[in-house]
Amino acid sequence: MHLLPIVALGTLMLPLAAQANDPNSYAQPDQVQVTHLDLDLKIDFAQRQLDGQATLKLDWKNAQAQSLVLDTRDLKIAKVEALGANGKATTLTYALAPRDPQLGSKLTIATPHRPRQVRIVYSTSPEASGLQWLTPAQTADHRAPFMFSQSESIHARSWVPLQDSPAVRFTYAAHVSAPKDIRVVMSALNDARHPLNGDFRFAQPHPIPSYLLAISAGDLAAQETGPRSAVYAEPSVVAKAAHEFEDTEKLIATAEQLYGPYAWGRYDILVLPPSFPFGGMENPNMTFATPTVLVGDKSLVSLVSHELAHSWSGNLVTAAAWRDIWLNEGFTTYVQGRITEAVYGKALADEEALLSARALQKKIGTMEPNTQKLAPDPRGIGADDALSDVAYDKGSWFLRTLELRFGRDAFDNYLKGYFAHFAFQSITTEQMLAYLKPHLLEKYPGKMSWDEVTAWVYGEGIPGDAPLPDSPRFNTIDQERTDFLASKLAADKLDAKSWNTQEWMYFLDRLPDVAPLDKLQQLDAAWQLTGTPNAEIGMRWYTHAIAAGDKAAWTAAAEHMHRIGRLYLTTPLYKAFAKTPEGLAYAEQVYAKAKAGYHPMTQKAVEAIFAKAKNPAPAPTPTK
Ligand SMILES: [Zn+2]
Repeated sequence: MHLLPIVALGTLMLPLAAQANDPNSYAQPDQVQVTHLDLDLKIDFAQRQLDGQATLKLDWKNAQAQSLVLDTRDLKIAKVEALGANGKATTLTYALAPRDPQLGSKLTIATPHRPRQVRIVYSTSPEASGLQWLTPAQTADHRAPFMFSQSESIHARSWVPLQDSPAVRFTYAAHVSAPKDIRVVMSALNDARHPLNGDFRFAQPHPIPSYLLAISAGDLAAQETGPRSAVYAEPSVVAKAAHEFEDTEKLIATAEQLYGPYAWGRYDILVLPPSFPFGGMENPNMTFATPTVLVGDKSLVSLVSHELAHSWSGNLVTAAAWRDIWLNEGFTTYVQGRITEAVYGKALADEEALLSARALQKKIGTMEPNTQKLAPDPRGIGADDALSDVAYDKGSWFLRTLELRFGRDAFDNYLKGYFAHFAFQSITTEQMLAYLKPHLLEKYPGKMSWDEVTAWVYGEGIPGDAPLPDSPRFNTIDQERTDFLASKLAADKLDAKSWNTQEWMYFLDRLPDVAPLDKLQQLDAAWQLTGTPNAEIGMRWYTHAIAAGDKAAWTAAAEHMHRIGRLYLTTPLYKAFAKTPEGLAYAEQVYAKAKAGYHPMTQKAVEAIFAKAKNPAPAPTPTK
């Protein structure tokens, strides 16, 4: 995934029984493992539900096992059957446990004869945490309803009963029926020329973890961007998206040069409506992307580099549990930087690395000590919370440090070997370290000590000698910001005409948290930041304007919040408003109107901000 909720959704206390394997799953892969999933689903827009059956092929690890335990959340189970070798179905008894607020309902199926296949007939709930249903009015073209899934981290269980742990990998095939004129796409091989006849079939021949299961359906057009890539979007968006993503083939070829062949066949991108809660999601063969990166100048195309990089780090080599998610996101953010550097130049890659490092430096000291670690104590962290800035930005910073210490050639060879060695496996931090030691540390002695490595991986904060790239353009911006704040440089004399998105982000990121109102007004008069169509700039600008008490920006801020459901770009505005009673009341009004268009994850995050503002928790123990 790319760019994450800034809001922590709360610390999770897990039921003891769930702690045996992956603490965020009830599954017992040491007893039995799902190896293949056959889905047969009908998309029912009127009822906002998926209806059908999931057939699981099973590999029994324990010859005495008596049950199959699956993860579910808010599913209506109609029937569970065992399928014999002759295809004959036998009804199985099952028990659905009461719903745990974090983990959902444990489904225990009695399987005394350990069948090769089990079929579950079920339907989803309109409130499924992993699905969003949009009315025609909530789409760009207002012509047809739209639906999409977001399974990471533990939301696949809300639309398919399965072993919802990244440790379990399976292949899948699907038959999906939909209304005529609707196109269905999945995280599998898709055909841009498929007729819109309401009858779609998909196959994912590579074993994937459940969080990469994905589906979307709506009024979708497709446009090729290269020999093995296309963009899918609503008809009014597709040409703009194809232009923004026209370098896709160049990005794939660059990544292949660095890390070996692209293993998945096609690489397509689906541009979702603005309510998509994330920047992008690396669903295999079909990246799901936010429309907020369509800014016209390709300045935010790093998102594609990021999701594409996951084809190696994440989709090929996967974290075995959410606690190890930095193996996906930290490695991917590093690889993203390398692709950006090769295609768009070192200056841009350095700017992006500096932006993320500076933001992390500012934030990490305010985080709970356990969440400051790349590999946190798993019992203290929830599955969604694990996807934090630490996983992305501290993780990639560690890898950039390794590259500097060992040299680019040695580190590139190492990483290529690592991806090949663990391809199509799910691994823990400890397995990664066990490979790192002989293949990098001991192979090139004296470059980095084991203690330094473990300080990065298991320590809090950021090591004092963590290297930062140098960006002459950012240095100039630092000087201009200082002069502007000291009234030595007028707002309209800033050299901002030539600033790209990242340079605006950097200028705004390092303004004081509560900047003087007159300074912000001067900036706005000179550069018309209020009303900007660029959501990265807008998020930063409105957050400052709200903090400084600039009520003139409120209406435009509300429009931004209403339009954009991407957590990272919208929740900071809610947080800024929630700091004063008047702002909080205003934000609640905005939310009342925006809520229907928000994804369940965004709703949950905004409601958590309101709850915290009204009932602040006691101050945490200060951390070092
Ligand atoms: Zn990612």
